[in-house]
Amino acid sequence: MFDKILIANRGEIALRVIRACREMGIASVAVHSTADADAMHVRMADESVCIGPKSSTESYLSIPAIVSACEITGAQAIHPGYGFLSENANFVQVLEDHGLAFIGPSSEHIRIMGDKITAKDTMKRLGVPCVPGSDGGVADLDSARRVAAEIGYPVIIKATAGGGGRGMKVAQNAEELEVAFRTARSEAKAAFGNDEVYLEKYLQRPRHIEIQVFGDGKGRAVHLGERDCSLQRRHQKVFEEAPGPCITPELRERIGKVCADAVAAINYIGAGTIEFLYEDGEFYFIEMNTRLQVEHPVTESIFGVDLVREQIRVAAGLPMDFRQEDLTIRGHAIEVRINAEKLPNFTPCPGKITQYHAPGGLGVRIDSALYDGYVIPPYYDSLIGKLIVHGRDRNEALARLYRALGELIVDGVDTTVPLFNALLAEPDIQNGDYSIHWLEKWLARTFG
Ligand code: ADP
Repeated sequence: MFDKILIANRGEIALRVIRACREMGIASVAVHSTADADAMHVRMADESVCIGPKSSTESYLSIPAIVSACEITGAQAIHPGYGFLSENANFVQVLEDHGLAFIGPSSEHIRIMGDKITAKDTMKRLGVPCVPGSDGGVADLDSARRVAAEIGYPVIIKATAGGGGRGMKVAQNAEELEVAFRTARSEAKAAFGNDEVYLEKYLQRPRHIEIQVFGDGKGRAVHLGERDCSLQRRHQKVFEEAPGPCITPELRERIGKVCADAVAAINYIGAGTIEFLYEDGEFYFIEMNTRLQVEHPVTESIFGVDLVREQIRVAAGLPMDFRQEDLTIRGHAIEVRINAEKLPNFTPCPGKITQYHAPGGLGVRIDSALYDGYVIPPYYDSLIGKLIVHGRDRNEALARLYRALGELIVDGVDTTVPLFNALLAEPDIQNGDYSIHWLEKWLARTFG
């Protein structure tokens, strides 16, 4: 086992990893930019290293700075959290070359899944059902027209290098295709430096269902059920739950096995998420994330498994601590993402926290790096905390969420808490009856 792990991240996820390290008796090293010198992850880690100025390109994304921090502190392994370098195959390659362990999959798997066209091809080959669409990339408008006519409108044009909800354009009909195709390509070029796009059927009222998988890198893999992350704004998740309100044990068993078998077949190591759109009893693969997800705590809650501990164990060459038959679901969990943002436009709202009080009690978990007097810097993501509740069933989880939101105090900045209070009053949310378009429609209706 490793003696010391460096966490190449900040905020709540850095804390999350430090906590797992401490329980495993592993020393932790925090890295930080000059803007984060007073951050909670720096205070909580055993050691810390300043790796650069406030700009993340020169700090949290700087591979030389992070490798040097490992060398200075003697850390043997790096946990990347999510975002930043977590899905950067080149980073993993550099670590492999320096004899440092990466707590995550191989650079090869990150590369395959990081290119959405290659990912889709690979999954198709492994027997995973995919959204109907183009066979690979679409090079020009004529080919786009041909594919769209074949699969039928509406269609979505997606950047192969896309991520974070960016690089997608919908065309409702043939007239809209040209503009959508050209904008998607130029936006992809500007955002990702790669203008290759592909086409998919645009599903009308699917749910976003993702399967948590875990592999040992030696041909064994399990699944830990699904998360329903359909409540999204601009293709970004805001509320996640497990199990999915519309997924029966039979459906879970079926798609879970397909996913576990697929990752076992490629000797995948560690945690991964296979994302699907789900409509009328059918699953359609959209992408795979080769890292820990923001919403992993809902899965941890219902399975009673510490996913970060398991990631660290397999990265150190130990076997997985569970078999498929050991994994049973207990109850229901919900996570809401608390962002420092002002409604109704979700404008980032950094600033000083004048008062902070975290909720507690049975079934309540808060993953947050906030503290009284903390100043949220304006340079990074606006996620300031995740509130996760666990109940014996969905109704209990909803009631607990309502109760916990009432206890939470975050003064000094605007947050997305009022959004969740309003959502909990909606019958559709209470009944679990929503698709990926529900939230956008609700926001338009509520705020105009
Ligand atoms: P990203 O990597 O940017 O997160 P994804 O491929 O995971 O992109 O898609 C993000 C979201 O976009 C999905 O959860 C869904 O809401 C929407 N989406 C993607 N593909 C389709 C599709 N074919 N039909 C309808 N919605 C889609």
